[in-house]
Amino acid sequence: MRVAIVNIGRIVSGDWRNPFVAGDTIVCENGRIASVGTASASDVSNADVVIDAGGTTAIPGLIDSHVHTTFGDYTPRQKTVGFLESYVHGGVTTAISACEVHVPGRPTDPAGVKALAVAAFKSFEHFRPGGMRVHAGSVILEPGLCECDFREVAKQGVWLVKAGFGAVKTPFDYAPMVAWAKAAGMITTCHTGGSSIPGSCAIRAEHLLAMQPHVSFHINGGPTALPDEDYRVIIEKTDAALQVCTAGNLRTTLLCANLAHEMGVFDRFIIATDTPTGSGVMPLGMLYTIAHCASLTKMPAEWFVCAATGSNARVYRLNSGLIQAGRDADVVLIDAPSGGAADDALSAIKNGDIAAVSAVITGGVPRFVGKSRNTPAGVRRVRVAENRLPRDFSG
Ligand SMILES: [Zn+2]
Repeated sequence: MRVAIVNIGRIVSGDWRNPFVAGDTIVCENGRIASVGTASASDVSNADVVIDAGGTTAIPGLIDSHVHTTFGDYTPRQKTVGFLESYVHGGVTTAISACEVHVPGRPTDPAGVKALAVAAFKSFEHFRPGGMRVHAGSVILEPGLCECDFREVAKQGVWLVKAGFGAVKTPFDYAPMVAWAKAAGMITTCHTGGSSIPGSCAIRAEHLLAMQPHVSFHINGGPTALPDEDYRVIIEKTDAALQVCTAGNLRTTLLCANLAHEMGVFDRFIIATDTPTGSGVMPLGMLYTIAHCASLTKMPAEWFVCAATGSNARVYRLNSGLIQAGRDADVVLIDAPSGGAADDALSAIKNGDIAAVSAVITGGVPRFVGKSRNTPAGVRRVRVAENRLPRDFSG
């Protein structure tokens, strides 16, 4: 399928150092972005679908790097069906599992945690709820796992591990397992802050220093934050990505954003939701955290859009998150919400408002065009201008 998105007002790249791309057109072909720039007559005439963006802002699809998936589009924690498809209406085109800890009666023995991760990974390989790409299957680190276990699951395709819910004596016991997972080429993630569920324990800077994971999960608290003095230590003495989550502590989200900027490590600052959890199902969580960070710090709104897209993609080695030829064609059109104080998407976000989501394209396929069922409507009209396929994309 070839899709041309024309008449775009502004294109946010996904790279915070260089946050805008010149042009008004994005052409998607066979699931990838084919070109970004100015529309030619042939771009439009060769397209199966032409979307008139009406002057709205194009951003890469949001990547939520902390979602508690289980199996199918269902969360046992909040007994909700269809939550992932609902997140697509919040502009989320990729969800990365933060481990399948919510599976009822989840196994805790080494064979069980491996099987759970492999089954979750494989079950989402060909299942895209609402068009969303779900990277599932994160091994929950438990005592008894040995070095060969990580090589074995990595061979099955599993590439995520999570420290924080295991029956370890102290969090220092995770350190060798994290090292084995890294040696097997996996991305290692670690709970940070006070305990989140009964039975888990607090993880602080000293533990992260011993583990050196790729990602400090919900560094702002999940939901309970670290002592303030730990942030600087983690930034200075690890290379971990600093993941802030909607379902955490807002004050320390802002503390971490400002420190990341001041200390020259904004590359490591990434946004996620940590949902569904006790805090609920939050389809607009990514948009809320972007708006909170943009409106309550002095940094530009587009930086936080990039922290929710390209920065997540870089940390997790994904081919999405950037509006660039060759990348996965995950594109979201956003706008100022109608009736608000601002008249374009980035000004609205800086004002603290939720952007209106007007269209979502994932894997080069329009999933809905016009308006989201979860956000306010936008100021501008986005429509399918031409359609040569026997399909309706109005959602
Ligand atoms: Zn979590």
